[in-house]
Amino acid sequence: MEVISKEMQRLIATGSTLRAMFEEGKRMVKEYGAENVFDFSLGNPNAPVPKEMNEAMIDVINNTDPAKLHGYMSNAGYEESRIAIAEYLNKTYGTNFAMRNVTMTVGAANAVVVAMKILINPGDEVVVFAPFFLEYRNYIADFGGVTVVVPPNPPTFMPDMDAFAAAINEKTKAVIIDNPNNPTGVIYDEETIKQLAAIMEAKQKEYNSHIFLISDEPYREICYDGLSVPFLTKYYRNTLVAYSFSKALSIPGERAGYLLMPDEVDESEQIIAASSIGVRVLGCVNAPSLQQLAIIRMLGKTSDINIYAKNREILMDVLDEAGFEYVKPQGTFYLFMKTPIEDDKAFVAKAKDEYQLLLSGGYAFDCPGWLRIAFCVPYDRIERSRSRFIALGHEFGLN
Ligand code: PLP
Repeated sequence: MEVISKEMQRLIATGSTLRAMFEEGKRMVKEYGAENVFDFSLGNPNAPVPKEMNEAMIDVINNTDPAKLHGYMSNAGYEESRIAIAEYLNKTYGTNFAMRNVTMTVGAANAVVVAMKILINPGDEVVVFAPFFLEYRNYIADFGGVTVVVPPNPPTFMPDMDAFAAAINEKTKAVIIDNPNNPTGVIYDEETIKQLAAIMEAKQKEYNSHIFLISDEPYREICYDGLSVPFLTKYYRNTLVAYSFSKALSIPGERAGYLLMPDEVDESEQIIAASSIGVRVLGCVNAPSLQQLAIIRMLGKTSDINIYAKNREILMDVLDEAGFEYVKPQGTFYLFMKTPIEDDKAFVAKAKDEYQLLLSGGYAFDCPGWLRIAFCVPYDRIERSRSRFIALGHEFGLN
């Protein structure tokens, strides 16, 4: 009899490409020295945590009854945190949420998993758009769901609406989007969202079914050129939002986020009740208490997004000089670049072994022929990588 479950054996065998690259980076630092390794692999935000965030945490520690601060609370989280979030959303987006619509989660990852736990029966289908955050496959598979991939649509990477419509059938239970998008950096604008919503409305009618839009929003505030992300509950009734404080506040290790469940969604009362059960039975019990209280003071605040804007500029300048083709990021701190050869795995290996450039192959996002550059890194790392990108491009006749 085997010890390790079949599913875990599969996960061990497939591993996480991004995590593996991160670990490889650490090994290479020992071999080549930190200044000679150019790690662009992981989405670990590098803008300093806002001073107010640390102050809020210290103040919460010093001025909260320890029994409350360190104790269990409702699985859905502290009431004051949920009320503050609902009020912030109402003020910012003109919505009408109340405490009941918000369940605190252990980051957006947990919010998406809780949503899957609530919705998915074995065999149900969940549609995602390539390229996508590959963990979705695991989150869906955890509950016996089936991931249905809408193929990539380069060079804009806006959803191909015909392919999307064709991907939906009577088994479709949910659609996950991530806006702005990891890894392409594109923002699905209002027109795109309206088209997605219209297709989903029509399909719900056609199959007399419930199709939920899960909007995964860890990068909502990280947008450039004055662009912003439409607030999706306004466009499609059956929308659940998985929000994260990880990226815009540079606190991914703190594990703070929430699942937003509007009253308008089908069977909202059951969904809301199920969300706190989800947090509990998935073993989280509740989101971290200190963070729940600290973020009350951080709503609407971010780290200095301008740091990423500057990194974006210099990275585009480097890639232009090297001659690579890429998608101009509208949001996130990722840039999606076309590999000059089809085999992105081989290209990424070459960049790593010969130039110590650590990049994430598109195959890690179900989109071969491309790669992701995470530019949430020190500015000077990008500048110092210039000669290496140019030399790499030169090998392929790009400059
Ligand atoms: N969703 C996407 C698209 C992400 O890129 C990430 C993290 O990189 C997550 C979810 C997980 O975020 P969190 O730290 O909030 O769990």
